[in-house]
Amino acid sequence: MKKIIVAIDGYSACGKSTLAKQLAQYAHYTYIDTGAMYRAIALHVLRTLGTNYTEQDVVGLLPDCVVSFVHQDDKQLVCLNGEVVEEQIRTMEVGKVASEIAQIKEVRQVMVKNQQQMGEQKGIVMDGRDIGTVVFPQAELKIFLTASVEVRVQRRYDELLQKGVKTTMEAVKQDLLQRDFNDTHRAVDPLRKATDAIEVDNSNMTLEEQKMYVAKLFEQCVLK
Ligand code: C5P
Repeated sequence: MKKIIVAIDGYSACGKSTLAKQLAQYAHYTYIDTGAMYRAIALHVLRTLGTNYTEQDVVGLLPDCVVSFVHQDDKQLVCLNGEVVEEQIRTMEVGKVASEIAQIKEVRQVMVKNQQQMGEQKGIVMDGRDIGTVVFPQAELKIFLTASVEVRVQRRYDELLQKGVKTTMEAVKQDLLQRDFNDTHRAVDPLRKATDAIEVDNSNMTLEEQKMYVAKLFEQCVLK
């Protein structure tokens, strides 16, 4: 059966990674979380410069930042200069800085090149904000995932609570809205739906319904 590239884009906390993992497991493909790559750079920025940095400082750090993945227990774990940082990157602070540094042209250039190399052999499901538009405009299957703001806030809040992070629904909402704004208004590769992407609103879908739905889209695509 032919191997394809699946590109999944959408706003923060729509459940892109859950969907991408479901599909990667179904198709026996490799899942690549590009948000984790921006978060890894953000972690390096925070560790090296703290929260007081300029765009130039961040660009200066790029040559010292090697972002890669290791495969462990059926999971892809993101590494920063060889150190597994999967846990450390999942904080609100790192997410906020990731969203800021993702606006820098040079950061995006390095990330996009790295992501394109990862997809050379196809057989991947990649999620992010610019996968169907910039990284793989030729991807055979493009999904643009959406969900209502209320649903997204609740999901992110539950996720943080489960991790023991103390926060409020309002703080989560403000963070999400700010990140939506950053993603859609940045000058370089803003988040937008590719013209040939299929829009999926999962606000009222169960995980099982979502899985069946995208599995069908995938089958239609590989049989074409
Ligand atoms: O998806 P996640 O929330 O982990 O991504 C962290 C941040 O990285 C996002 O807020 C977004 O600004 C940025 N990002 C991006 N392009 C991607 C993936 C993530 O700009 N392909």
